[in-house]
Amino acid sequence: MLPIRIRLTFWYVAVFSITLILYSVFLFTFISHKIMNNMDLELIAEAKESRSIFLEEITKPSFEELDEELKGINYYLQIYSIDGKLIYSSANLYKTNLPVDTEAFNSIEHGSQVFRTIHLFKHKDSRMLLYPIISDGTPKYYISIAMPLHEQHEFLHMLGIILTLVTPIVIIVASWGGIVIAGRAMKPVDEITKTAKRIEAGNLAEQIKTKTHNDEIGNLARTFNDMLLRLKKAFDVLASFSQNVSHELKTPLTVMKSGIEITMREKRSAAEYRELLVSLLEEVDQMTRIIDDLLLTSLSDTASIKASFTPLSLSKLLMETIDFFEVLATDKTILLEHNIREDVSITGNERLLKRAFSNIIDNAIKFTPPGKKVSVSLVRDAGYTTIHIQDQGIGIPKEEMPKIFDRFYRGKSANTEGHGLGLSIVKWIVELHDGAISVASKPEGTNFQIRLALV
Ligand code: ADP
Repeated sequence: MLPIRIRLTFWYVAVFSITLILYSVFLFTFISHKIMNNMDLELIAEAKESRSIFLEEITKPSFEELDEELKGINYYLQIYSIDGKLIYSSANLYKTNLPVDTEAFNSIEHGSQVFRTIHLFKHKDSRMLLYPIISDGTPKYYISIAMPLHEQHEFLHMLGIILTLVTPIVIIVASWGGIVIAGRAMKPVDEITKTAKRIEAGNLAEQIKTKTHNDEIGNLARTFNDMLLRLKKAFDVLASFSQNVSHELKTPLTVMKSGIEITMREKRSAAEYRELLVSLLEEVDQMTRIIDDLLLTSLSDTASIKASFTPLSLSKLLMETIDFFEVLATDKTILLEHNIREDVSITGNERLLKRAFSNIIDNAIKFTPPGKKVSVSLVRDAGYTTIHIQDQGIGIPKEEMPKIFDRFYRGKSANTEGHGLGLSIVKWIVELHDGAISVASKPEGTNFQIRLALV
């Protein structure tokens, strides 16, 4: 297939050439008609003038005034009586007679003027008028007047040459212009192709450099650049995600490796081996938790999770979660208070919702110093329900707030427990239930609010 640029130019040149040729033909025909028309009008005017002089002089023995009038003229004139007798002839005709055919003669007899194109002397073509002179309602004489057409022919010949020479030149210039314009118009498309060919995962930051305006191709380039930006963002997220995962998994592996190496340096007692195995088990548990969490949020098939949603009592689910954390809170001498409305039901996934509330309550207990309070409440409004989890912990610094829901983000004051996936999982679960999560924090404590629709 030929490039668009060539096809566009071809069609443009084809249409332009046909139009130009038709225009030239029309112009030529129109001008030659106009010239012949003017010539005919001139012949009529001359004939009329000669007729007047002739009629004035007809009674005189000679046509002196007519001779005078016709001196140095560029045309030929004869006057015949209707029965074909030559009455007057201009001097430049010598003894030659202007021709008249039967058909023309019949028209004159009927009082109509007739035009003919004839050959006369050296002139190629001459225009001739046969003009009847009518007296008392009948044609008595007729004037034959002929004018050479060489000037007109010369002009038309020149016009023909100019048109035949200029037309191809104009077509060549237009084709060249067409190729240049189409090439310019297609340049951004070439740029897009080249950029697309150059782009690999590593250089997604590349953009198409075009000075295009607000036209279709400009829009295409901009859309392509926007797509590249989105891909770059997604790629960066993925790259940092893999980095974080590797880092998180490497830490427990390093701990395990050094524990094993130290223990293996010398012979150990059964109790020491057991101690090592216990610590290894802890690290393995930590790694399993990370992998479980990652697997959970990377479940891309949210449609099938949503299909598993069932009606459930949110009040009951929240109470069970609070009961579960009661021991942990008591251990840390934290008061776990609750104010749960009893009759709140929603549609959702029980296991995931429990996981979300557990993560927040766990954090609340984790970040609250002993002797303080964590309170959980469930309230119901028209159409929705809100869960508040309020602690009296260390609070979240303002600059950390936008990042706490990111995967693997851990605040500066976060202790060794945890791996920064908890809140990202909560957010994912809440959004899966078409809910919203918000957080407000002061140095005296933090308040998480989860809003879910009542169905
Ligand atoms: P993790 O708790 O494993 O560090 P999370 O995703 O659960 O990870 O939390 C991210 C960060 O948000 C924490 O490291 C901590 O800095 C901050 N954070 C979360 N909950 C609280 C809270 N209740 N009080 C203070 N900081 C909190």
